[in-house]
Amino acid sequence: MTNNPEQYFQSSGTVVLPGLEEAVSLPRRVWFRNDGAVSSLVENQVKTVMIIHGYIDLNRSRLRGVLEAPIDRLVAAAVGQMVLAEYPDLRHTNGYCLRHDIPGTGEQAYVVAKRQGLDPTMDVFVDGHESGHFLERNALHSHLQSMLLREGVNLDAGAYSGEDFADIGGLLALRRAVRRGVKGLGMPVFKHRGPIRPEQAAAFAG
Ligand SMILES: [Zn+2]
Repeated sequence: MTNNPEQYFQSSGTVVLPGLEEAVSLPRRVWFRNDGAVSSLVENQVKTVMIIHGYIDLNRSRLRGVLEAPIDRLVAAAVGQMVLAEYPDLRHTNGYCLRHDIPGTGEQAYVVAKRQGLDPTMDVFVDGHESGHFLERNALHSHLQSMLLREGVNLDAGAYSGEDFADIGGLLALRRAVRRGVKGLGMPVFKHRGPIRPEQAAAFAG
């Protein structure tokens, strides 16, 4: 059977970025999937790697089942070691936006996922943060800036990169959730990283 990883992703059209709840057009040769809350980020990444490389080949409609099913322990353990060597932070981070180069095609697939059971603030923040990573890695910075403008937030997203850029996505997601009427949200508190940059927090507080 020919492995066709494209079936496990959205490969064209627009995708709604989690947290930001805003549609963006996928760039050419960029695929996307949002797995939402998962019980293990490491295992979720392992399964995606296995799917892409053809260890698991099932109809797309059964993808959720695959992502939750027991998998071949030997292959999974080997892939798991590779994944942790490449992304050691996956053991304790709250979410990820990871790129997969699809072998032999030049296509790139991005998967966004977050840890299950986060507190309500972090749950929203992580979605927006990982969406921020997706926008930056695909040179879609201007989308974030236009969202800031529409929200009336006076902040130059172009002055930031990496985690600081992604945090703006997280803060935007929180603001939009509050506006939708979600109660009880505050500023995220982190165990394994530094706090939000004070000037970003201030721009959103205003
Ligand atoms: Zn990040």
